[in-house]
Amino acid sequence: MNLRRTKIVATLGPATQTHEQIEKMILAGMNVARLNFSHGNHHEHRQRAQTIRAMARKLQKHIAIMVDLQGPKIRIAQFINGQVTLQAGQPFVLSNTHPHNAGTAHIVGIDYPALVTDCQPGDELLLDDGRVVLEITGIEGQEVHTLVVTGGSLSNNKGINRKGGGLSAPSLTAKDEEDIKLAADIQADYIAVSFPRYGSDIEHARQLARQAGSHAWIVAKIERAEAVIDDQALDALITASDAVMVARGDLGVEVGDAELAGIQKKIILHARTLNKVVITATQMMESMITNPIPTRAEVSDVANAVLDYTDAVMLSAESASGNFPVEAVMAMSRICMGAEKHPTSNKSGHRLGQVFPRCDETIALSAMYAANHFPGVKAIVSLSESGHTPLIMSRIRSGIPIYCFTRHKETQNRVALFRGVYPVNFDSSHLDPAMLMQAALDELKKHQTLNSGDWIIVTNGDNNASQSGTNGMKLICVD
Ligand code: ATP
Ligand code: MG
Ligand code: MG
Repeated sequence: MNLRRTKIVATLGPATQTHEQIEKMILAGMNVARLNFSHGNHHEHRQRAQTIRAMARKLQKHIAIMVDLQGPKIRIAQFINGQVTLQAGQPFVLSNTHPHNAGTAHIVGIDYPALVTDCQPGDELLLDDGRVVLEITGIEGQEVHTLVVTGGSLSNNKGINRKGGGLSAPSLTAKDEEDIKLAADIQADYIAVSFPRYGSDIEHARQLARQAGSHAWIVAKIERAEAVIDDQALDALITASDAVMVARGDLGVEVGDAELAGIQKKIILHARTLNKVVITATQMMESMITNPIPTRAEVSDVANAVLDYTDAVMLSAESASGNFPVEAVMAMSRICMGAEKHPTSNKSGHRLGQVFPRCDETIALSAMYAANHFPGVKAIVSLSESGHTPLIMSRIRSGIPIYCFTRHKETQNRVALFRGVYPVNFDSSHLDPAMLMQAALDELKKHQTLNSGDWIIVTNGDNNASQSGTNGMKLICVD
């Protein structure tokens, strides 16, 4: 039996909302469902979350829910006719005072007053993920005057980025604060923060989540030029988060698409080195919005992220509003498994020559060292409360499956995002310690075929009923 190690995050939207559709997404291999709070309303998100939980229960799968906060995406207001066409070379004005729903081909409102102070003549503004480009010619009172560099059609509420970054909107808006309460209510496993600049933005989100009663892990979307300006800025943001997303849509607009591939590799490497989880996102299977099969370029893009050792790859509009959401998950799953057959390296230099700060991490890394060097090992079982031990294990490159045995629903969902980690519902709190290893082996046999002579590694804490932490490791030969 071959397990896929790289996980799939799928954004759910109008194309994926019925019980049947969501059931098919889970069966096709979705591990994490992303709800984008930039779109849709509270009622709809709540319903979708209930459906995900119900279908996961029915299929006995562990599916994490990720809420993605809108953040301060700077957007234009609306046009009288919904859209206009801009010609290269023509003047165009962005105005704080123009009526919100009365845009024309010459002027449109904006919902971000600071644009007039954040920008200077000569700056380039990119609208709609870079499809339309404007060059600023002057700032006049509450208006930004521009010339159209790249024209095209422009419709309501499209986003605005400044090339090179540097727009000063705060990371969490009043809407986000409300949305965090909903995320707590639907017991989201992950909350993604859009456009964070500093570690403090992540701390703030975590604090608001905890106040609302949420235990969600906080994901930093890396999508501002400032976040990747140097290693120090990037590492500070990663360190403050539990997981990061390479949010290639807005990041590509801010840093320029040519640098994106290099930056993706750097973010993945830094995240894993700092013991964080990493998701690669945006336009991975874009043509599958309208086609049942991906292009070779898309296949290569997904495979490349897998070879970079991302924990997960993500679908956006492909699964939210595309025509082939289930096919997109199936194609992604197939590509991941194909790429996993070609490890770029099976040697891990991860944390060699470093001091380990904790007992549980020492056991986790020792277990991986053993698993990767003792050929008989077919599986690792980590009896875990919080999922920290399997997280540390899965930062190491390996082809051996890591089963996270835990009685906590939250942990089962959370670890669904980690590369090579498979959640199993297992309650050892009532077991006699003498019976524990046999019980773990019996449970493992339900999930993986084992032959006589195979070895497994089990890690656990002295007293599994408490948070005492992993301090033991055992090699067991299957008879
Ligand atoms: P972000 O910058 O957060 O990724 P986005 O606008 O690019 O925002 P995606 O989550 O990437 O949004 O999804 C791509 C598209 O799918 C959206 O632009 C939207 O048209 C559609 N979509 C996603 N979620 C929903 C939803 N809940 N309701 C309606 N449409 C949605
Ligand atoms: Mg984005
Ligand atoms: Mg997007």
